[in-house]
Amino acid sequence: MKVIVLGGGVVGVTTAYQLQKDGHEVVVVERQPTVATETSWGNAGMIAPGHSFVWSSPKAPMTLLKSLVLKDQALRFKFSTDARLYAWSWLFLMECTSEKARRNTLLKHRLAAYSQSILGEVIAEEAVDYDRNDRGIIYFHRSQEALDRGVAQMKLLESDGQIIKVLSRDQVVALDPSLASARDKIAGAIHCPTDETGDPAKFTRALAKKVIQRGGAILTGTTIGGFETSGDDVIGVRTDKGVLKGDAYVLALGTYSPLLARKIGIKLPIYPVKGYSLTIPIGDQPMAPTVAAVDEHNLVAFSRFGDRIRVTATAEFAGYDTSHKPSDFSFMKRVTQELYPEGGDYDRAEMWAGLRPMTPNNLPFFGRRKYRNLYLNTGHGHIGWTMSHGSARITADLMAGRTPATPMDGLLAD
Ligand SMILES: Cc1cc2nc3c(=O)[nH]c(=O)nc-3n(C[C@H](O)[C@H](O)[C@H](O)COP(=O)(O)OP(=O)(O)OC[C@H]3O[C@@H](n4cnc5c(N)ncnc54)[C@H](O)[C@@H]3O)c2cc1C
Repeated sequence: MKVIVLGGGVVGVTTAYQLQKDGHEVVVVERQPTVATETSWGNAGMIAPGHSFVWSSPKAPMTLLKSLVLKDQALRFKFSTDARLYAWSWLFLMECTSEKARRNTLLKHRLAAYSQSILGEVIAEEAVDYDRNDRGIIYFHRSQEALDRGVAQMKLLESDGQIIKVLSRDQVVALDPSLASARDKIAGAIHCPTDETGDPAKFTRALAKKVIQRGGAILTGTTIGGFETSGDDVIGVRTDKGVLKGDAYVLALGTYSPLLARKIGIKLPIYPVKGYSLTIPIGDQPMAPTVAAVDEHNLVAFSRFGDRIRVTATAEFAGYDTSHKPSDFSFMKRVTQELYPEGGDYDRAEMWAGLRPMTPNNLPFFGRRKYRNLYLNTGHGHIGWTMSHGSARITADLMAGRTPATPMDGLLAD
């Protein structure tokens, strides 16, 4: 078949790759000059099944309420005139029971772990340089009580096969000596040795090149405006360069998927949740992180991509606004410098903001809705780089009429 993949983020490009492996002719449509230029550019790069906990938990309503009054650095919720925000928030709140949080976390963990196994297959088959670091991720806490709570919470993922090691502060420093000067700030950590990191944009761009080398097309600089339909078929995609026609279509536009889908009567509760990142050249600094870490108290994440550090933080409800100013980064910069004083050339940090495509239950949408030949692969939220590889394989399986190798109960759109 000829398959048109809408969106050239990590989800769209990995999907095109898997479809091409199945023998399909693929065309990726992307408005930016290169793939992985929007959300898939500046994320923390963590392939983190160990970070599968859903945001829609029983604690979330109070955290949201508090953020209205307190100037919280990690979560910034404010009132807006956007009706979609309230519709989404209501659905989100409906997912915040402990039973649903547990169920959604386990579904997400299963998908994330499956996805990591597919990533393993892809990198075994393809020479893709993306600054991979496979030394795991350290989730560290600043007080013994918080560490104990973290360890208790991790039991859920452990019951689903996640390997965890609880580390004392000395063991943390032994694992990553770059944290030596911050030793006294750390009570201990949970190390997920099978979690990993890598630069998602570098990966996506390298994979896109493979797709092109094998005869696929990546139409960059091409903006999609809508669909042409006939009965229960999509028969074309309208772009600023003309109408593109295929036998099947995959919707992988991240936070923009609902805006296009609603034009043909498909409602997708995906809302943008803004995050910020710094990319810091290490330069000649001697003590850059060697193992990725998450400061669970401040909710700041640190990854090492070769000669750079990527630091990310903040969940902000700001609609589709990706603008940023230096003060948005002062807190995360301060935390990073405090932990890794000789970790990088902080004056040359590159600032970035992007939008997580969040669904109320933090699980992506798969399968078909309303149209026979339009497949959804969208709404991957805060761990979309992690879930993209498996999601791509699932989409190829569904299109081929094969049963995916991971159970789909609870994951298919109804
Ligand atoms: C601060 C931050 C940190 C994160 N950290 C991690 C992490 O450590 N690990 C992890 O797994 N995930 C992480 N994520 C989440 C991850 O980045 C996303 O889930 C993932 O990138 C989503 O990929 P996508 O392809 O769906 O969306 P995108 O990357 O946004 O791709 C969608 C593409 O569609 C294109 N597009 C949109 N509209 C149109 C149109 N009309 N016409 C043509 N093209 C269009 C866009 O240009 C874009 O390239 C993080 C996100 C943020 C913001």
